[in-house]
Amino acid sequence: MFDGKQYLPEASVLVVDSQNKLKEIVTGSSIQKDKIEFFDGIITPGFVNTHCHLELSHLKNTIQKHTGIPEFGKQMITQPISGFAKEKINESAVAADNEMYANGIVAVGDISNGDDSFKTKQNSKLYYHTFVEVLGLNPVNQTAMFDFGLAILKKLQALNLFGSITPHAPYSTSLELIKSIAQYDKENSLPLSIHNQETEEETKFFLGIENDFKKLYDFLKLDISWFNAPKCSSLQYYIDSFSEQRTILVHNTFSNKKDVQLAANKNCFFCFCPNANLYIENKLPDFNLFKEHVNTVCFGTDSLASNDELNILAEANIILKNTTVFTLENVLQMLTYNGAVALKLEDKFGSFILGKNPGLNLVNVENDKLKLIKKII
Ligand SMILES: [Zn+2]
Repeated sequence: MFDGKQYLPEASVLVVDSQNKLKEIVTGSSIQKDKIEFFDGIITPGFVNTHCHLELSHLKNTIQKHTGIPEFGKQMITQPISGFAKEKINESAVAADNEMYANGIVAVGDISNGDDSFKTKQNSKLYYHTFVEVLGLNPVNQTAMFDFGLAILKKLQALNLFGSITPHAPYSTSLELIKSIAQYDKENSLPLSIHNQETEEETKFFLGIENDFKKLYDFLKLDISWFNAPKCSSLQYYIDSFSEQRTILVHNTFSNKKDVQLAANKNCFFCFCPNANLYIENKLPDFNLFKEHVNTVCFGTDSLASNDELNILAEANIILKNTTVFTLENVLQMLTYNGAVALKLEDKFGSFILGKNPGLNLVNVENDKLKLIKKII
């Protein structure tokens, strides 16, 4: 049994009550043998998916692979979204929610740009922390965009769902807007997230050299001639907006050593969505750079617009295959405890919390790959 941080001593027994709440952890010798159920494999707490976009589930198989983020963005914008009936969007979100449940996921950090997925979240067996995402590169729109996001957050909260406001990405959100969002979340003790260094074009955009975002903004007929590139990496540009608050940096595909250190000094969490990186950019982060940060790495599936499945173990298996700096124990911790802490849910999920039902999964390792055998509770 792996409790989210380490293996429990051999012969430990988890006592579960009739409502699937964990009652206590005892040694086998103190319990009648015929009352113990044995499983072959590793028992872990339920998995935490720290980055998803449930509302994009209907875009599965519609976006071309390996085009890079600016082109991905263009394909997303030019999708005949209005052509998708609300019903189709809803059905796809429900199917995606069921898929995550079947894959042993118990809690999700989910991005929402509108309220399309709220109904699914209300009826879900999973716990959702919704990041209401806002963007707006032009600082003159800061107040309007912040208020727009806040109105969606209030709508979410009125449905008794949990969430915070979050900036989309540094290339799409002004520093002023990032700062006001960070301030709001800090005042309300809420976690936030940002898509970070997902593409090399982002770095070029901030260094002021020719890049595909400029072409995207030209295509969208958005004048960004006022934008002065700060001539440093995006992360170095915005990181001081966060002050010691729970922040999840998503992707980190093009982060360098200096970026990782700066973010680590701010206690940021690093969320990897490697299958989405392969889908869009056909490139993986340099996982070795995160060797010292095993306690702050977690996983996300991203959306079905950029992934073929919402299976967090498939993400973990990419790490196991592509680096030797993390042990199986490290990766199990990233799937459970780290994700829960990143979302500020460590009192509910990510470990064997007595009095709670954090989910229990049975996993195994076959051919160096983690596999879910079954959901126990
Ligand atoms: Zn995303």
